[in-house]
Amino acid sequence: MLLTLSTTRVPATDLGFLLHKNPARTQTFSLSFGSAHVFYPEVSDDRCTAALLLDVDPVALVRGTSGRKEGRTLAQYVNDRPYVASSFLSVAIAQVLGSALGGRSKERTELAASPIPLEARLDVVPSRGGEEFLRRLFEPLGYEIDIEPYPLDSTFPEWGESLYFSVTLKAVVRLADLLSHLYLLIPTLDSGKHYAFGSDEVEKLVRQGEGWLESHPEKETIVRRYLKGRRTLVQDALEQLTETETPDLDEVEAQHDREEEVVERKISLHEQRLGSVLAVLKGSGAHRILDLGCGEGRLLELLLKDKQFTNILGMDVSYRSLGIAQDKLRLERLPPMQRERISLIQGSLIYRDRRLEGYEAAAVVEVIEHLDLPRLNAFTRVVFEFARPQMVVMTTPNIEYNPKFETLAAGQFRHKDHRFEWTRAEFQAWVETLCLRFGYAARFLPIGPEDADVGAPSQMAVLEKTA
Ligand code: SAH
Repeated sequence: MLLTLSTTRVPATDLGFLLHKNPARTQTFSLSFGSAHVFYPEVSDDRCTAALLLDVDPVALVRGTSGRKEGRTLAQYVNDRPYVASSFLSVAIAQVLGSALGGRSKERTELAASPIPLEARLDVVPSRGGEEFLRRLFEPLGYEIDIEPYPLDSTFPEWGESLYFSVTLKAVVRLADLLSHLYLLIPTLDSGKHYAFGSDEVEKLVRQGEGWLESHPEKETIVRRYLKGRRTLVQDALEQLTETETPDLDEVEAQHDREEEVVERKISLHEQRLGSVLAVLKGSGAHRILDLGCGEGRLLELLLKDKQFTNILGMDVSYRSLGIAQDKLRLERLPPMQRERISLIQGSLIYRDRRLEGYEAAAVVEVIEHLDLPRLNAFTRVVFEFARPQMVVMTTPNIEYNPKFETLAAGQFRHKDHRFEWTRAEFQAWVETLCLRFGYAARFLPIGPEDADVGAPSQMAVLEKTA
């Protein structure tokens, strides 16, 4: 089985520093189930490719299990283990590329922490769920995925496709993240036995899944399949993976929300903001509306009151906020016809999500500034490339206005969870760039009383699809 990793980030040969493997050498490592070779089939400044080739020895595997009851059948010697990507590849990633998996690079510390253009090709992965399952695993993580199916037997095309595929994944991603995705998802795909299954498997799963598995739409399937269905382990892992959303953190967030309200209260800015967004949505004639990062559902409440909006989907990453929204909207008590107009779902805007497709307009109100800057690119792809509604309305604070808020100390953001706040020029430049990239045109509107020097407290962009 073969894994190749390529980058086009110049100088591409820095991949050698990231992997701690010299591009000029071929190295061989001895592992319990065979050997692993690392070499570079392609080395140039513009593109560099490292290959990890595993040589699994099926006879050595059988030797290790000689005491078992099952006896020695032919299948123990003749099977797909030497050829397909399985948990052996994960073991090899951990043992041979351990520093890279842990995000460490002695010589290129910063590069190891940065998302770079990477491509991983896997020959060959088994997928009983076919192409669709492969997509469900990798696309929510932001990968562009290219899948080549293999026929069962090329001399008998009528036998159809096999369960084996070559897969190429492309993304701008940290190498450590890419490796941890592969580390967990390859064994998830392989329904074969987990030869290297250890007592610390739950811990490995939780550690490698940190930061992405908690919010992956297929989390449960991944955990169940990775742990080969061992029920108590699965339960244990799922509990640990939800613990990150502790009520304490949510309480902190709620407190921050209250603080932001105090800062902005004088002009009841949020009401004006929602009023402006609603007016634009209404004017667009759209019926099917997304409220992305819907929070406690204040916009949803207004949308629900207006019959024009026949399909409303609110999404947020926070279960706490969704719970409050559900109570506030009294969803349980709505008559069935009304109830059908609205749905609330949990999900993250930095992962592609098919549930967001097919809507005419989207509101993203005071959300972008809650995303880490390096994640904004993923967010724009999720909204403008994949969900791709006709219209997107986004609002965000105008940082130039902050000195006018009496209760806000100089240099502070309005909300502790804000990762950034932008000037009008910064917001507009960002929006213009994404318009060019995705084929949208934008207009900008102030929200709240406008000051001659610093503008209005909040800013809104209305983007409409041109292509
Ligand atoms: N739009 C709402 C809430 C704004 S607060 C309103 O105007 O009232 C920002 C919201 O973005 C929070 O509810 C937060 O949970 C949500 N959020 C933050 N990161 C997110 C992500 N990655 N995906 C989806 N929602 C996110």
